[in-house]
Amino acid sequence: MIKLAVKLKTLLGRSEKNMGSGIHPVVKESALEMVKQAYQEGIYVEISVGYRSMEEQAKLYGQGRLGYNYGGKNYSDLSKPKVTDAMPGQSYHNYGLAIDYFIVSDDGRNAIWTVDAKWRRVAAIGKSLGFAWGGDWSDFKDYPHLEMTGGLTYSQLKAGTKPNLISKVNSSATKKGSSNQSIKSIQRTLNSRYNTKINIDGYYGPNTKKALIKGFQTELNKQYGAKINVDGIWGPQTKAASPNVRRGAKGNITYILQAALYLEGHNPHGIDGIFGNGTEIAVKAFQKAKGISADGIAGGNTFTKLFG
Ligand SMILES: [Zn+2]
Repeated sequence: MIKLAVKLKTLLGRSEKNMGSGIHPVVKESALEMVKQAYQEGIYVEISVGYRSMEEQAKLYGQGRLGYNYGGKNYSDLSKPKVTDAMPGQSYHNYGLAIDYFIVSDDGRNAIWTVDAKWRRVAAIGKSLGFAWGGDWSDFKDYPHLEMTGGLTYSQLKAGTKPNLISKVNSSATKKGSSNQSIKSIQRTLNSRYNTKINIDGYYGPNTKKALIKGFQTELNKQYGAKINVDGIWGPQTKAASPNVRRGAKGNITYILQAALYLEGHNPHGIDGIFGNGTEIAVKAFQKAKGISADGIAGGNTFTKLFG
């Protein structure tokens, strides 16, 4: 018997249902886009939860806790172990701003919770779409968790402040359609300039990223006399050798910068190797999104955020 892979439609349908009607539309759109992009890379992923009401949160918080009341009701449930320290209102799920995901077996029947390369790749896709990942937290790692807070605290949200979330789905470089052609063009250029032999498939995956880094390392050696291994792996040596690329710059390094910005969802409006206004705006927007100094000059820190 031939085993068929789970359909994208199935994963999208289940994910949409699991996110609930209280999910923020931008979070929902971005989550579904993440499922789609992962699918293109052969990674099957499903969203297990999105919006969770205060009552549902109280029920979770009451697990394994004695005498826990919320809204005049007893939510204590000692038959189950403790699962969360978040009381109602203390989770971005309660405001429809967070999702959890898991990997699905190829036939779509089983959930796989192993945090491996696939799992991390999904997180990376989510991050490129504007999510913050619980796996990056330093105190407590929440690997299935992705959120878009809009910079708001629980108390601001509780008080009714609405987050201003901007969807990256339509600007996302990996969306099907015309953007796809730009990625193909980048892939073709990398192959011809640096002999990187990547597939011209129009999707931004790990191989294209590696090829970009190889191109960057090649240029550092050629133009700046750096002596870096051209291995496509971002490390401290490559970072240290990174030049400051700013308005007025021209050439292959600027091209690589523009391509990387584009692939990360910050369109420089022209991938032509000429650092003009559009590139500067894209660099600043990218720096701001990554929480680094938004001076519009791409140096070691900016390239690390792009390639690291
Ligand atoms: Zn979560």
